[in-house]
Amino acid sequence: MDRLSHVVVFGECMVELVNQGKDTLTKGYAGDTYNTAVYLKRCTPGTSVSFLTSIGADFLSNELLFKMGEEEINTDLVYRSETRNLGLYMVQTDEHGERTFAYWRDNSAATQTMNLKGDTPLSADLFYFSGISLAILDEIQRCKLFALIKTIRETGGKVVFDPNYRPRLWQSRKEARIWTDLAYANADIAFPGGDDHLALYDHTDVDAIHAHVTALGVAEIVVKNGAAGVHIFTKGNHCIVPVERVARVVDTTAAGDAFNGGYLAARISGKSVTESAGYGAKVAATVISFPGAIVDKGAFSTRVNTASSVSP
Ligand code: ADP
Repeated sequence: MDRLSHVVVFGECMVELVNQGKDTLTKGYAGDTYNTAVYLKRCTPGTSVSFLTSIGADFLSNELLFKMGEEEINTDLVYRSETRNLGLYMVQTDEHGERTFAYWRDNSAATQTMNLKGDTPLSADLFYFSGISLAILDEIQRCKLFALIKTIRETGGKVVFDPNYRPRLWQSRKEARIWTDLAYANADIAFPGGDDHLALYDHTDVDAIHAHVTALGVAEIVVKNGAAGVHIFTKGNHCIVPVERVARVVDTTAAGDAFNGGYLAARISGKSVTESAGYGAKVAATVISFPGAIVDKGAFSTRVNTASSVSP
């Protein structure tokens, strides 16, 4: 992949409240595409990463802006809603380590991003979005998003898509399939996950996933499947990259998001698809060794070198 200097990541970042005991919560900021933006930037600091989203006028929104500054993510594409707030979710872990999520995101500021953005022009060398970015928009805004994606591709930008299927964000599985297929049809790189494709399309193996996504025209397909290894399909080539064993998995939240960030950082740094998958797996392995979606920056950097400094 040619060196790409300007990445735009589109989606929603929410307030994350994690239950730490009976009446104690810790607060963070996370969301699938935001997590990818954070890890992509940490892994390739020389790349400009902008997060396209909307926030509110509330104090939590201000705090998120500050966090984005700490992560050196550009806030030039963050719009403000005067009437809506940030979405919020809460994670509770039971005594067996099983996690339960509760969401308050239905009317969040981020559901209005394409309306708030209006016709402001936007360019990107690489544009990243997910099935969640798409699901939270109404149909008119989804069409605006695809119009934007069309202009980005016409001007030479590459588009990356992760389906991240969340049934409760869609009216029906049929609706989710239609829009997810349209997203694949407009993507150059895709990150289908085994669980997502089973739930959304009843695909039970990698071959079925590959056949479906290839038929929609995606040139670089990276199939993730937890600890089972990564399958990459490019122009008739198929390779399998094993995933390193993690001695103690603490919290798998954001594993896929972190993988995507690492993979793209390595591709932007000129690495091959197999090198990039190995690096993405290393980033994901680090993230699942700590609690929460966003791992402390210091702890992360002691374990993961930047993508450009990693040798094959
Ligand atoms: P998602 O979060 O999208 O469901 P996966 O569960 O497929 O994603 O995991 C994404 C990546 O995280 C995998 O490709 C792998 O590199 C890493 N990963 C996930 N679970 C494990 C595990 N138990 N051991 C090692 N690596 C893992």
